[in-house]
Amino acid sequence: MKAIALFSGGLDSTLAAKLIIDQGIEVIACNINTGFGSTKDRLAHMKNMCEQIGAEFRSVDIRDEYIREVLFTPKYGYGKNFNPCIDCHAKMFEVAKRVMEEWGASFLISGEVLGQRPMSQNSESLQKVLNLSNCEGLLLRPLSAKALTPTIPETEGWVDREKLENINGRNRERQMELAEQFGLKDYEAPGGGCLLTDENFSNKIRDFIAHDTFSVEDIPTLKYGRQLRLPEGAKLIIGRNAEDNAVLEAIENSKFIHIRTELVGPHAMLSRTATDNDKTLAAKLVLAYCKAGFEGEQTLMFGDEELTAVSDLSRNDAQKYFI
Ligand code: SF4
Repeated sequence: MKAIALFSGGLDSTLAAKLIIDQGIEVIACNINTGFGSTKDRLAHMKNMCEQIGAEFRSVDIRDEYIREVLFTPKYGYGKNFNPCIDCHAKMFEVAKRVMEEWGASFLISGEVLGQRPMSQNSESLQKVLNLSNCEGLLLRPLSAKALTPTIPETEGWVDREKLENINGRNRERQMELAEQFGLKDYEAPGGGCLLTDENFSNKIRDFIAHDTFSVEDIPTLKYGRQLRLPEGAKLIIGRNAEDNAVLEAIENSKFIHIRTELVGPHAMLSRTATDNDKTLAAKLVLAYCKAGFEGEQTLMFGDEELTAVSDLSRNDAQKYFI
């Protein structure tokens, strides 16, 4: 008997998987990559949690499908920011059901807790997710199972319902007790949760789609650097630190050109369709973020094209273009 666990690396999804593993069932912990979640740290954390509970870790990339089918057209709308949580959950279960069949598993589990998140984890929302994803009966939520309708794995006797939990609400005491009982270590997930719940990131997406069509290759261009929208519509991205600069430098995206200079300064990117005025402004703004100690006209490379500009703007001037 094999089950697929929807896995985020958080304590709840870890405990849900462990409760099923302890019933002698093989669990594959499946993290679904929407493009807006896991950082490198979180990936390492998920693998660590899986090692501790004896689950196999796998990740499934649905970024393209997510952008096409969920992000901009959620049937149940958005949460506080750009987070289409109900449709997103449903998509994850739909994908999990697909891999369940491919990987020869018999049912799905998730770490959802009834009443934990007032909007997305009340019983009505949990049911909507089942309806949307077509997983009715196959999805077991071990942490709240006793408060929910029995699922196929319970009625068929694959899982002993009596050994599952009856957690309801936001109090985390029972989860802490279970973590202690299972001897889990370092279970606090590092930052890097879902970016769609972040107000600033949501504004960046809104700005992007107001000017261009959005696709998978555009995701990294929203995650790194200072983001500026110039008066004639071009987008300028200026690295904030060595990490940003390294990531931006490596991005290959047909909508952008790279801006390079011999000076000590940030890596930057600009919309390929930028007008001459926006290009000149971009050059001045990039120079404003270069280390002082130069004078007069400076030459920058905009892709293969040379552009000469005078550094007469300050970092304060840049702020009015921030998204
Ligand atoms: S928080 Fe993000 S990943 Fe989680 S359900 Fe909502 S949109 Fe999906």
